[in-house]
Amino acid sequence: MQSRWSDADAAWTIESHAAQGVAEDIALRVYTARLLGRDPRLVLHGGGNASVKTRIADLVGAKTEVLCVKGSGSDMGAIEPAGLPMVRLEPLRALRKLERLSDQDMVNALRGNLVDSAAPNPSVETLLHAFLPHKFVDHTHATAILGLVDQPNGEALAREVYDGRVGFVPYVMSGLALAKAAAGVFEKKPDVEGLILDKHGIFTFGEDARQAYERMIALVSLAEAWLKRDRRNVFAARPLPSALANPADIAPIVRGACAAPPGEADADPRRFVATFRTGAAILAYVNGADLEDYSRRGVATPDHIIRTKNKPLIAAAPAAGKLDAFAEELRRRVAAYVKDYDAYFARENKRVGGGKSKLDAMPRVVLVPGLGLFGLGESLKDAAIAADLAEDTLRVVTDAEAIGRYEPAGESDLFELEYWSLEQAKRVGSLGKALGGQVAMVTGGAGAIGLATARAFREEGADIVLLDLDRDAAAQAAAGLGGLGIACDVTDRASVSAAFDAVCERFGGVDILVSNAGAAWAGRIGEVPDEVLRESFEINFFAHQSVAQEAVRIMLAQGTGGCLLFNVSKQAVNPGANFGPYGLPKAATMLLVRQYAVDYGVDGIRSNGVNADRIRSGLLTDGFIAERAHARGVSEGDYMRGNLLRREVTAQDVAQAFVHLAKARKTTGHIAAVDGGNIAAALR
Ligand code: ZN
Repeated sequence: MQSRWSDADAAWTIESHAAQGVAEDIALRVYTARLLGRDPRLVLHGGGNASVKTRIADLVGAKTEVLCVKGSGSDMGAIEPAGLPMVRLEPLRALRKLERLSDQDMVNALRGNLVDSAAPNPSVETLLHAFLPHKFVDHTHATAILGLVDQPNGEALAREVYDGRVGFVPYVMSGLALAKAAAGVFEKKPDVEGLILDKHGIFTFGEDARQAYERMIALVSLAEAWLKRDRRNVFAARPLPSALANPADIAPIVRGACAAPPGEADADPRRFVATFRTGAAILAYVNGADLEDYSRRGVATPDHIIRTKNKPLIAAAPAAGKLDAFAEELRRRVAAYVKDYDAYFARENKRVGGGKSKLDAMPRVVLVPGLGLFGLGESLKDAAIAADLAEDTLRVVTDAEAIGRYEPAGESDLFELEYWSLEQAKRVGSLGKALGGQVAMVTGGAGAIGLATARAFREEGADIVLLDLDRDAAAQAAAGLGGLGIACDVTDRASVSAAFDAVCERFGGVDILVSNAGAAWAGRIGEVPDEVLRESFEINFFAHQSVAQEAVRIMLAQGTGGCLLFNVSKQAVNPGANFGPYGLPKAATMLLVRQYAVDYGVDGIRSNGVNADRIRSGLLTDGFIAERAHARGVSEGDYMRGNLLRREVTAQDVAQAFVHLAKARKTTGHIAAVDGGNIAAALR
């Protein structure tokens, strides 16, 4: 591990922050916190923290000593001065006298001493930073350090590797007790460069930002070098089926089996996004004959537990062509996992005297021998975090097993962290949003209606996939929504199939399909060439059928219902002159909506459509509008408002109708008109 300290970058950070009125100490704290936070071997997803002690003048000019420490759960790699809440130091130091400090009192003491009362909550490890005397204090859960200390003889190993350069702090949960223990260890040997925290991570410190940072790099590098020596081969391979199923085929099965059962009867299950990862290191790990043993000993550092739970679910190796058997076995294993989690909760809750309320018992990491692993979460972001932490854990386990035996913190210690209110407060996600945990796919996603619809679904918490013929437009539109853009020709079955495979690997499946792509063809029906009519049927009917068929296949594999939404058209009901080539396939698509409702209602899959009229979009070009308005002798505005309500209908109106139908859990086979009132196109 190389130091990435640069005098020029440090100077630039000081200069650019000075221009915004930020003091040098804080600028340097931001600089090295980011250096640490951007190296995944040191810091992942809110893990780790950093602080600086400095002096400020208060409103009346009195100098006060303050601790600027990372906010709880924030990301070190992207930290800004505002992410380092400033806390008065003396009152924090005074807390060392206490024997005990409740969570509520600790948060109160931290918040009560904030210089800016609106600042975020300081890190749960703030007191540890406060009790150490050094100006700069850095803390990480570095992968290599965990490989050393997640061992039965972690202390002996740390002494051997560091030869007196660090202090060793036995495992204690974060908070007052750990802060006091760490300060005590430091004071016994004040010339140490850092502290190793058993089963947890490492602190380094120094009189300036560079010293604390360089010590982190040096001490972690020593651990890395140690782990490279005298390794034994780990993970003897298990036998695997001769032909394995594809990740895209099993993803919906995994996702469906891991959905949390509804809290009340007649409600939907709570779905998670399931994202797939693979690679040489992952495969060596999941293909090991003893996977059930080493992968279930627990998380590599305690705070991973809020993202990954303590144990992964282990699936059977999926044989090609035997998906039903895989699904059945997986459901059995999920039931066993849930039973195991419930028993762990009951046991530990009793031990601590009760009073905790149980979190859902579903796994957040699924290991699949032969293929790789899935990370699960309430959004793609959370699923990716779970997958990243699972990958980090398997690196730690691999290292630890190569030099000894992987032995992380025990179940009781981890329970206290998993159910610690201050850790729970870090959990963010789409919880509480109506469509959180669901995956919505929109075809024609880069057009006006597609994009407005995708935005509306994102607002409701769904993760978004945009399909569009134009690769760049799809990617660009999706990027703005934190989603995935895929180039797809919906009239080409292979292209559709490939797009759904990509969605299954990234998200685990799909819950909502908005089949929106379409194109307008005109021509007097008695004279229109056959090719034109057939081409229009390809996009305005068969493409709807292709994407719906793929979506239903995945929804059935998930077994958690689903929602099909079709952009039909008022043409399906009220044909316009010379619009036969467009209206005829749309009329067939309107029947398609109802056919899916009839055939798949029993599976909880709903099918609904929207009949819109006169929307400014790719279909209804400005030129066309001008021409129509002119032909009728009205202004363009009046043409667009030519409906009962005299209101122009927008892409956002159509988007809201799709969202409404997605939430209408007891509506299927329905066509909603979004046309400002067009009685000739009324369905009844
Ligand atoms: Zn920590």
